[in-house]
Amino acid sequence: MIEFSCTCSMGRHAAPPEGYDISSGAIERIPAILKNYKKVYMVADENTYRVAGARVEKILRENGILFNTLVLDGDVILPNAETIGKIVLNANHLSAKSNIFEYSPLPDLILAVGSGTINDSCRVASYRMHLPYAVVATAPSMDGYFSAGSPILHDGTKSTVQATTPKYLIADLDVLKEAPYDMMLAGIGDMFGKYTGMLDWELARDYTGEYFCKKICADVIEATDKCLANGYRLAERDPECVKNVMEGFLVTGLGMAYTGNSRPASGSEHIVAHSWELFDVEAGHPPHLHGLEVCEATRLIAIMYEMLYEETEDMHLRELIAKYLPYFAAVEKFCVKMKMPPTVTDRETVVAGLRRALILRDRYTVLFYLRDHGLFEKYVERAADALMARL
Ligand SMILES: [Zn+2]
Ligand SMILES: [Zn+2]
Repeated sequence: MIEFSCTCSMGRHAAPPEGYDISSGAIERIPAILKNYKKVYMVADENTYRVAGARVEKILRENGILFNTLVLDGDVILPNAETIGKIVLNANHLSAKSNIFEYSPLPDLILAVGSGTINDSCRVASYRMHLPYAVVATAPSMDGYFSAGSPILHDGTKSTVQATTPKYLIADLDVLKEAPYDMMLAGIGDMFGKYTGMLDWELARDYTGEYFCKKICADVIEATDKCLANGYRLAERDPECVKNVMEGFLVTGLGMAYTGNSRPASGSEHIVAHSWELFDVEAGHPPHLHGLEVCEATRLIAIMYEMLYEETEDMHLRELIAKYLPYFAAVEKFCVKMKMPPTVTDRETVVAGLRRALILRDRYTVLFYLRDHGLFEKYVERAADALMARL
């Protein structure tokens, strides 16, 4: 449990994680980090087993705490019932499987080795089995490590189900810096979404009286600034830069756990990104990397805020947006210079994504502000044109 007292209306924040290690050689310290566990059930897929799992398994075995290993096929794109079912079914020790009358002991910890599907699936399995879990990250690609929900593919669409937050995050920079380059860009792109997310949160505070924590918001902005300042060195796979991104995920993830809601990690840019993702999933296509969708949606929402800044007569709103304008300009510059790959390249899908985002989630963001002021449709069309011109 990580906790501290705060000046916001909650007075005190606490989060279930017990610790984290974001450093070079973190994998070697797993036995020390997991010192309270004796029977570790490791879950990986073929890819993550190759990049980290085999080593983790060896270390667990040598320290006498390996209970069982499950290596899933490498082609699972989103967690589904079958994948989660396999994790649950294989949790028992192999020797106990042949005789159902025999006592089948369970592990005392699930250790996910992976960043996307494996992590999301293990989180749900952990929740359903009332077993704690920890994660060994294999790519700095998305901000969901500490999320309390998991996306599940079900009935041809994607929905979010309740899951557990990890006890430990183990992020070995030697592993992470070798991740595919587009995954690294996705990771930093996911962090850029915090700028629009924080502005949406401030907007909700001032226009609906929603709960807001100044400290957590400031911490998230500070972590995002670090990513932006050092991000250009991602091209050289600079470990320090990868560390900034992982620490950013940690700050936003803990922020979600501290406040019990996802405001510290996401705003309208995530809702738009999810809309685009749903179009792909429902059409039977594999979705793009989450962080790349979020990054493009961030550029789109930033355009809407920039337009509002120019045109609104609400001086308080102008003041609020003004603080974020330099961030938006810096993100746009980064995306152009680093050739951030766009995910949605046709105007029609950009527009449809914004319209769907408005009804996808009942959360006050700039989209609700525009709707309430009769500006939504006009801004959707103009922002889509502006984004197309920038891509
Ligand atoms: Zn607070
Ligand atoms: Zn995200």
